[in-house]
Amino acid sequence: MRLIFMGPPGAGKGTQAKVVADRFGIPAISTGDIFRANVSEGTELGVEAKRYMDAGEYVPDSITNRMVRNRIDEEDAVKGFLLDGYPRTLDQVEELDGMIRFTGHRLDTVIVLTVDPDELVRRLTERAESEGRSDDTEEVVRRRQEVYAEQTEPLIEVYRSRGLVREVNGIGEVDEVTERILDALADVQES
Ligand code: ADP
Repeated sequence: MRLIFMGPPGAGKGTQAKVVADRFGIPAISTGDIFRANVSEGTELGVEAKRYMDAGEYVPDSITNRMVRNRIDEEDAVKGFLLDGYPRTLDQVEELDGMIRFTGHRLDTVIVLTVDPDELVRRLTERAESEGRSDDTEEVVRRRQEVYAEQTEPLIEVYRSRGLVREVNGIGEVDEVTERILDALADVQES
């Protein structure tokens, strides 16, 4: 099972990705989490990534692609994976296509979580207070929304034209949204 979760910052991708990946026995691979882990460990990658993250900008494709390639080469991802926060640019789409083709598999489905903009701002403001993420300030949140609209939203159409997109309403209780996602995945044939 090879899945992608897409949706704007605050759509709840991370929360849902972990639950859904567990159900399928595959790892949820979150580029944001990997970057944050590197930042807190003070690795070279973390130092580099932090500059971009704190500004609400995307980390350069060359860095991100290499990181994902290494991650999906790991043993636990051989049977499949759920990507959360990757791909986010057209270049990343092409890279991922290459990585999956190389393993002789295909991408099964792209789940797009939809949430209206007012709700997104409300959630991110709340998260800023509870988690204290350094990129959840109002200005940076706004920039992240812009970057998403400019660079990532167009990817939905790319995957839609391949017939891979399933949109899921991301508003409601966490469990409700999980159920909707599992329904959307019910008839997906594993590759
Ligand atoms: P969000 O809640 O905004 O979707 P994430 O936790 O997924 O945030 O990512 C946080 C930050 O990490 C992004 O704003 C970006 O700087 C960086 N990042 C995560 N994934 C990618 C990616 N695929 N390409 C480039 N940068 C990324």
